[in-house]
Amino acid sequence: MKIGELIKKHGSSLSFEFFPPKDETAEAKLFQTVAQLKSFKPTFVSVTYGAGGGAMKNTRHIILRLKRETPLTAMPHLTCVDQSMDELAKILGDYKEHGIDNVLALRGDPPKGAKEFVAPKNGFCYATDLVKLAVSIGGYSIGVAVYPEGHIEAPSLEMDMHYTKQKIDAGADFAITQMFFDNHFFYDFLERAEKAGIAIPIIPGILPITDFERITKFSQKSGATMPDHIARRFSRAGASPEEAEKIAIEVATEQCADLLENGISYFHFYTLNQSRAVTAVVNNLSLERLGLKISPAGE
Ligand code: FAD
Repeated sequence: MKIGELIKKHGSSLSFEFFPPKDETAEAKLFQTVAQLKSFKPTFVSVTYGAGGGAMKNTRHIILRLKRETPLTAMPHLTCVDQSMDELAKILGDYKEHGIDNVLALRGDPPKGAKEFVAPKNGFCYATDLVKLAVSIGGYSIGVAVYPEGHIEAPSLEMDMHYTKQKIDAGADFAITQMFFDNHFFYDFLERAEKAGIAIPIIPGILPITDFERITKFSQKSGATMPDHIARRFSRAGASPEEAEKIAIEVATEQCADLLENGISYFHFYTLNQSRAVTAVVNNLSLERLGLKISPAGE
């Protein structure tokens, strides 16, 4: 099923993101997570893509297994890192042959140690080029990444929006945001996107802060602000993992409740391959009121 069409039809969307596991044990755990979250009947699930050929195989393996063994619409992420346009065309062609008709088209981060992204030989510089390639192959609903606080390398929010518009105009049907923890960045982004003439669904990416230290480091690297009031809540939790998880669930529930109150009906959860926090947040929100056909996890 094409995600762009599904979102249009329902006017709402719930999705979960996973990363490809490194070994069989981690894969078994991921599929337990999938079994738990499946009962929410998500609109789609997605699987991230790392640099290098091995990582590509892992993403493909998980996507095809999800397709084979579950009723879920599974979308692979694909990046331009370390691959020529011919190689990317081959990957997209192969997915199509396997009945995968959605892709999240990304440029990818500069490889480890490199300061900036350098296009591989006969490869692409920007996600826009990958969107164009997927359009030229045909039959894909295409998603792209967007950045409420601006992409970390962008010289200004204005230039970032200019390139975002270009990327969407190249043929994207929907966009998913980088994590953010202060909804004002998202509302401001929506306003700027509307002014720029962007009309596709923009799905907020929600990351429950299940590991405060790790997620703070990650957010600093990607330019997402960790508000002081959230940091204070975690510091009060001290070393208790139970209390920290409780706060993570509360914070993400409050964030999503505010989005709902402000008319947002799309939610993409970064699961980190774990179901507990995300399950609690989705159960807390009663997302059925959006018309999403959700049953409590476990049923
Ligand atoms: P682009 O849209 O190409 O933008 C990259 C930079 O170039 C931006 O600063 C932009 O403003 C600028 N730019 C764009 N076009 C032009 C132009 N014509 N001229 C000059 N500058 C331009 N990474 C992974 O490796 N694997 C994943 O699976 C993955 N999944 C992600 C999922 C989501 C929802 C998000 C938000 C990010 C994900 N990422 C992933 C991270 C992403 O690859 C990085 O953020 C990367 O640095 C940028 O990718 P992009 O597709 O947004 O790039």
